[in-house]
Amino acid sequence: QQIDLSELLSILVEQFQMMAEPRNILLTDNIEPELMIAGNADYLTNVFLNLLDNAIKYTPDGGKVTVKAQPQAEQVYIRVSNSGKGIAPENLPHLFKRFYRVEADRSRHTGGTGLGLAIAYEIVRLHKGTITVESEVNQTTTFTVSLPLKV
Ligand code: ATP
Ligand code: MG
Repeated sequence: QQIDLSELLSILVEQFQMMAEPRNILLTDNIEPELMIAGNADYLTNVFLNLLDNAIKYTPDGGKVTVKAQPQAEQVYIRVSNSGKGIAPENLPHLFKRFYRVEADRSRHTGGTGLGLAIAYEIVRLHKGTITVESEVNQTTTFTVSLPLKV
């Protein structure tokens, strides 16, 4: 399956405006056009749905979420960033494990099973890509997905 990732991401961002607006979250994107990749559109949608869902869910009201996609050396890099309290360094290595949720989030009203990132990791791996996370406490958390471009 040939997928226009630019289109897939733009549509998702558009849909998430509905979740962002009532909470005064500024959701912006910077997506280069015609980023073509090979893969399963439903599975990849699932990956970015979860990253966007997390970004909105874990951003305080009035925060910021950005989605960037750009090509570099036959890969596309998709970065989903959000403001907020961030993720402590000791928790970062566990995020992609099944059912893992950061302690403070387990009892929160946000809900969730802790499966989203484990599923995303597996889907990205099946597409020969990578998924990583960087976080500065009380500043920004960024999830980066790289996928091979179809050349
Ligand atoms: P589910 O995705 O299954 O509904 P979930 O969102 O809790 O549940 P994951 O998406 O796997 O599960 O995320 C795992 C945990 O990582 C979250 O519970 C949260 O503690 C932390 N996390 C994920 N994304 C962020 C983020 N953008 N900012 C802060 N913490 C995050
Ligand atoms: Mg999630």
